[in-house]
Amino acid sequence: MKLLKDRIQNDGKVVSENILKVDSFLNHQIDPLLIREIGAEISRRFQGIHIDKILTVESSGIAVAVMAGYFLQVPAVFAKKQQPSTMTAGTVSASCFSFTKKSEYKMVVSSDYISKGEDILIVDDFLASGNAAFALAEIIEKAGARLAGIAAVIEKGFQDGGNRLRNKGYIVESLAVIKKLGPDGIVFQ
Ligand code: 5GP
Repeated sequence: MKLLKDRIQNDGKVVSENILKVDSFLNHQIDPLLIREIGAEISRRFQGIHIDKILTVESSGIAVAVMAGYFLQVPAVFAKKQQPSTMTAGTVSASCFSFTKKSEYKMVVSSDYISKGEDILIVDDFLASGNAAFALAEIIEKAGARLAGIAAVIEKGFQDGGNRLRNKGYIVESLAVIKKLGPDGIVFQ
């Protein structure tokens, strides 16, 4: 997706050879016009695949999930990283190792919003080691729903998440795939 790649090239900050910062349009300040185009592109890439619902994890995935849901005309659900006291009835959860925080956390979704037999599209901002996507896939499986595919805004192709997920047979669509992050800048695949 050229618009996205240009934006990453212009505004992305290489923090290290493993971490890209995109706080100015995706992870802190959000550009609604860009997110709208990202949502439209995700919807295009999953045309012809039946999707009942989108699942992401708070917080950075939410804006993208909502826009993709807008174009696919389905609800967007986000897994919470802590179980709120108001989430009293049934829940489905999975534990996930955070690539950026280097710690384990729990993802939890109310059983009210993910149901047996539904086709669910996972959406997230980054795909790195794939742990977040695998934890969301586990939630989908535990709920008796089906994984329709995975959409990532930015895939770091030099990490193994994309391959791990594709080798499992999952459909993975990434709108920008990064080959290398370094002192010379950002190289796309
Ligand atoms: P994974 O679970 O695939 O290793 O990592 C995905 C999650 O980690 C994403 O939800 C994202 O929040 C975060 N993440 C991974 N790599 C990066 C990165 O290079 N930059 C930023 N800003 N977040 C990242």
